[in-house]
Amino acid sequence: DAAIRIQDLQKTYAGGKTALHGVSFDVPRGQIFGLLGPNGAGKSTLINILAGLVNKSAGKAEIWGFDIDEHPRNAKRSIGIVPQEILFDPFFTPREALEIQGGLYGIPKAERKTMELLKAVYLSDKADAYARSLSGGMKRRLLVAKAMVHTPPVLVLDEPTAGVDVELRQQLWAYVRELNARGTTVVLTTHYLEEAQELCDRIAIINHGRLIANEPTTTLLAKA
Ligand code: ADP
Ligand code: ADP
Repeated sequence: DAAIRIQDLQKTYAGGKTALHGVSFDVPRGQIFGLLGPNGAGKSTLINILAGLVNKSAGKAEIWGFDIDEHPRNAKRSIGIVPQEILFDPFFTPREALEIQGGLYGIPKAERKTMELLKAVYLSDKADAYARSLSGGMKRRLLVAKAMVHTPPVLVLDEPTAGVDVELRQQLWAYVRELNARGTTVVLTTHYLEEAQELCDRIAIINHGRLIANEPTTTLLAKA
């Protein structure tokens, strides 16, 4: 079974813009999968459909075997999304942000792994600091921790390193590799070829809402 299965996915926005013209691909379980494409290609639209934030116009999507229309709750529980935009209440602390997220997913207090998650993203010493006092890099790491609160089998990162400095990029990559090594399937969108090349087992390329490649990274690079 695939971690994510997308079949003929189409999206036309209310204004008439078609962002996805029938995209199909599988993300194999256990991989780090890169969705590569220039700005405006349709990457965020695709991720937002998986996240349940945007309604598709046609086609099918499954997450961990759960159809997003037929089993939306199970589909949602199977995926963690790290959004592109950093949006936090500045007066919450990292500990509170994760506790609230745990509450949203109905995880009993005793079963929440708040400190373990903060430690994994090197934020244990900031557990009780206001989010507004965190650096941009710390906030991004907190977003990753937040997406992992319900321990989803699939983690999706939307442009995780856009506008991020080299050091933080290395840290994020290391953490993504670690999560993957522990069994999480990872999907990341990026418009940096080097990022996809460095991290991903497989790369799909999307342009103007159409899939133009989908191959193991080594095969793709051999052709380039
Ligand atoms: P949906 O049909 O999925 O609900 P929306 O109708 O919510 O899509 O989109 C709402 C409006 O937001 C669009 O009509 C558009 O004017 C605006 N909008 C938001 N993001 C963008 C974008 N990236 N490019 C163009 N318009 C956008
Ligand atoms: P990417 O993430 O690859 O940069 P997007 O999925 O954000 O691409 O956008 C794909 C296309 O859909 C773009 O032309 C964009 O302007 C348009 N678009 C995105 N969101 C909306 C929206 N809410 N309403 C209308 N058009 C949108």
